[in-house]
Amino acid sequence: MSVVRQICLLGGTGSIGSSTLDIIARHPERYELYAVSGFSRIEELAKICRTYRPVYAVVPDDQAKARLSTLISDLNVEILVGEKALEEIAQAPVVHTVVAAIVGAAGLLPALAAVKAGKRILLANKEALVMSGQLFMDAVKQSGAELLPIDSEHNAIFQCLPELGTSFESDALPKKGVKQILLTASGGPFREFSQDELKGVTPAQAVAHPNWSMGQKISVDSATLMNKGLELIEACWLFAVQPEQIQVVVHPQSIIHSMVSYADGSVLAQMGNPDMRTPIAFGLAWPERIDAGVAELDLFDVARLDFEPADEERFACLRLAKEAFQQGGTAPAILNAANEVAVAAFLKGRIAFTEIAELCEQALASVPSHKADTLQKILDDDHHARKFSQQWLGHLSSQCIKTQ
Ligand code: NAD
Ligand code: MG
Repeated sequence: MSVVRQICLLGGTGSIGSSTLDIIARHPERYELYAVSGFSRIEELAKICRTYRPVYAVVPDDQAKARLSTLISDLNVEILVGEKALEEIAQAPVVHTVVAAIVGAAGLLPALAAVKAGKRILLANKEALVMSGQLFMDAVKQSGAELLPIDSEHNAIFQCLPELGTSFESDALPKKGVKQILLTASGGPFREFSQDELKGVTPAQAVAHPNWSMGQKISVDSATLMNKGLELIEACWLFAVQPEQIQVVVHPQSIIHSMVSYADGSVLAQMGNPDMRTPIAFGLAWPERIDAGVAELDLFDVARLDFEPADEERFACLRLAKEAFQQGGTAPAILNAANEVAVAAFLKGRIAFTEIAELCEQALASVPSHKADTLQKILDDDHHARKFSQQWLGHLSSQCIKTQ
């Protein structure tokens, strides 16, 4: 490979961001950090600028810009401000690959901008696809963007599918003999908790995932199984399949990252140590393979692999995600927005762990959904769901005050 690919890293200061930077550092002859964004951890962003010397760094506001300028005044990095700047760096002509690693709905517009500009997109930000599914995939088809999933399960599925490029027609998989996608889930830290035990779960317990080290929001989503619900929707859009073609399989060791079963009885699985550098390296180098610095899988050390069905009664978020997808339109965006508000409230100690699912269920039932054929409708319903959720939280705390 002769040309050094320019990388735009949206969400460089997060967990996926740092894994991506590690791969870039291992392959300076292949990749250069052209632009990077951060949000609240400006010191961390300054360190990234010092090590990787990007052309652009994007921060949310003028205060963050002032702070970053002081920290890197000796460097030749241009600091840009605001959401529009995220879209600009994602569309910059010199950029080859955009890593979409912002958490939540905030990542939607820049990820879409990258898609529209026909980039290679390494999608970690599943919320963007959950919110805008059809619109996002239509834009991929129109622009010819290369959409490569780096969510570990979807990356595993991609690796186990027949060679079909990066864009799938609706009947492409059954035509190639694919029977089912087996989407694995670790089950999270509370897999064996009773409903009563779940009520008492603390934020510290919820962010301590048994196998993966991740950002706070996705760690809580993994604990409620909302993450698996969002991933089920993500898989439906990415691979043009229906929820009936996907089975969620709880596999507590997180060694198999997902599987694909075929008409002839074959089941292909992708395995590896739980380390996000594997799917990220896969996406950066595809169709080549490069070193990711990941320890070799020691099967004798793993010794056994267990599987069990997911319990949608104790973990209602998985059921809710399926219902939202079946409902269609903006329902998944409504669910996603309510979940973001609920998770933030749980992390602040405002609601119980089990109230995350309660709030999501209420929002899905109460906020009217619409056809998701324009970005504006999606953003409007995201906004309505957040407003509803805040009111629900307000109502809850006033009830608490009354009963004290
Ligand atoms: P994180 O919390 O560690 O990092 C989030 C990043 O988003 C940070 O760089 C932060 O600065 C940025 N950000 C946060 N709010 C923002 C806003 N309002 N505007 C702009 N930027 C903002 O999260 P993470 O664990 O790295 O996850 C990032 C995304 O990748 C999520 O969508 C998550 O579901 C997905 N993902 C993560 C993992 C993992 O192992 N961490 C695995 C699969 C998928
Ligand atoms: Mg995942």
